Amino acid sequence: MRQLVALLAATLLAACGGPPPPSLLVVSIDTLRADAVSAFGRETATTPRLDALAAAGTRFDAATTVTPLTLPAHAALFTGLRPARHGLTVNGARGKLPVPTLAERLRAQGWATGAFVSARVLDAGLGLAAGFERYDDDLHVAGGPPSPTERRGDATVDSALAWDRWEAPSFFAFVHLFDPHAPYAAPGGATGIDRAAYLDEVRYADAQLGRLLDGVLQRARGPLLVVVLSDHGEGLGEHGEETHGLLLNEATLHVPLVLAWLRGGEGRPFGRAGEVRTDVVSLLDVAPTLADVLGLPPLPDLDGVSVVAPRPGRPLPIETRAPSFYYGFSPLAGVRRDTLKVVGAPEARPPGWMLTDLAADPREVAGVPAGDSPLVALVRSPHPDVEAETGLDEATLRALGYAGGHAPEPAGGPRDDPRQRMELIVALDRANTDLAEGRPQAALDRLAAAVPADAVVSEVLLLRGRALRALKRHDEACEALGLACARQPSAELLTEWGAALLARDVAGGGDGAAARAALDSALRRAPDDPHAAALRAMCDLHIGDAGAALLRVREPLLRHARDVELLTVKLRALRALARAAEAEQAAAELRAVWPASPDLD
Ligand SMILES: [Zn+2]
Repeated sequence: MRQLVALLAATLLAACGGPPPPSLLVVSIDTLRADAVSAFGRETATTPRLDALAAAGTRFDAATTVTPLTLPAHAALFTGLRPARHGLTVNGARGKLPVPTLAERLRAQGWATGAFVSARVLDAGLGLAAGFERYDDDLHVAGGPPSPTERRGDATVDSALAWDRWEAPSFFAFVHLFDPHAPYAAPGGATGIDRAAYLDEVRYADAQLGRLLDGVLQRARGPLLVVVLSDHGEGLGEHGEETHGLLLNEATLHVPLVLAWLRGGEGRPFGRAGEVRTDVVSLLDVAPTLADVLGLPPLPDLDGVSVVAPRPGRPLPIETRAPSFYYGFSPLAGVRRDTLKVVGAPEARPPGWMLTDLAADPREVAGVPAGDSPLVALVRSPHPDVEAETGLDEATLRALGYAGGHAPEPAGGPRDDPRQRMELIVALDRANTDLAEGRPQAALDRLAAAVPADAVVSEVLLLRGRALRALKRHDEACEALGLACARQPSAELLTEWGAALLARDVAGGGDGAAARAALDSALRRAPDDPHAAALRAMCDLHIGDAGAALLRVREPLLRHARDVELLTVKLRALRALARAAEAEQAAAELRAVWPASPDLD
């Protein structure tokens, strides 16, 4: 049957004139430093499959990401717009992308489209799923955690290879592997936070890439272009940064980029084996370049361009809002032009613009003050024109107890330069690890040692609130998270605050009104967030309204059928309503995802 459908499709396409256009497979290996790929760097034999692909195609030796953050970088990859223009400037942001994505454009032209991602940070609800007929972000695996935030490469590749559209005349598939992202714990490899453990993850991801390429090549029919890249690198301690997101050094900006035809590349762009491009290109250029190769007209006014032919001399934007969004510091922004790079903290005084010539100083240890370098004038603001998430509305503020409907104003004036605050950031990172590994008191102690008790830094307040909640110090937890929300009411913070307020009222017999207000506000910002929806339904259960709770989780469960919190609410509500047969069914659904749930005893 499948063969017949393919035959019919081929006949139709032939009737429309000519063979079907090429298929496209884009593989993003998250957090892959260019120098960890043996074809690019000093490591030997970490990535035999990617090396072979590079030898068969074109290797871009000087590719840079636009931002070292997963969601913002992927949105830039598929639009050709820098984060401040596509709007998803930090992880967890959500919104409709302002230009058609590569997937939307190809789907409109008849390509089958499918995406298979490995981390919650690329959840379909955030905006990246536009244009994909199939967007697989279900991270559950048999025997895995009940609420996974990532899945291993083998599970993602298995899911991708089970796609039923590889035989389509033309397809566009996107596969995202998350393994080299911290924590490093490759199957059979070293664990820890050092380079050796990181490289074991890289080796593992490369093996999964190989399995994917072998499987796809067996099934794909016509010409097939494969692109392998990373969204950003990893600090591994360079410049004081252990992971990525806050600084704009090459450890996290320099990414591998390989384009290779697995079949049918003769006479096409990038059709020559073993080509090495040394001109500087950006992830922003990938979508315009692929559109060009596949014969789509260029979109006007993008930040990236087609680099089928080299386009040296362009100022390429680099930016990160993470320091301001999470810590209240200045963001970092800069420009890369050929080997020159300028970076500064535009909201710090002084902004500390530094100029580096990467040809002479690839490790960026000898930058000089940029002075009147013309590159400084080319740096653009990393803030979006329109914030994806805006301040709290007056009704919410009143419900939360802010008299007069006014939240405390964030402190004005110049901000700290994050490059001067890396010790604090590393301490917060470790407090976060303490929390994730079940040591809330250790996290609290570390925070107390790192920052004055009266410091008002969103990330500190969030971590302190989480630690206090884990220690059941409910009033203090609510106070810390409330202050964080007043300064920066993101969906994530509001959900945390709502959870703390609900825990306080469940423990102390409160009515849950403040928790409802916080969670309603979170859901206005993130209507599709299953965690906020489940907590809001828990508020219904808390006041004995099981009918409302059941109604509230019905629609989220259509999109997140295996979410343990939603399934738990459903089960409790059905039991409260004494609908025994349906409760039995709900218990079976929960057991399938989380056999150890305490609700199943
Ligand atoms: Zn990433």
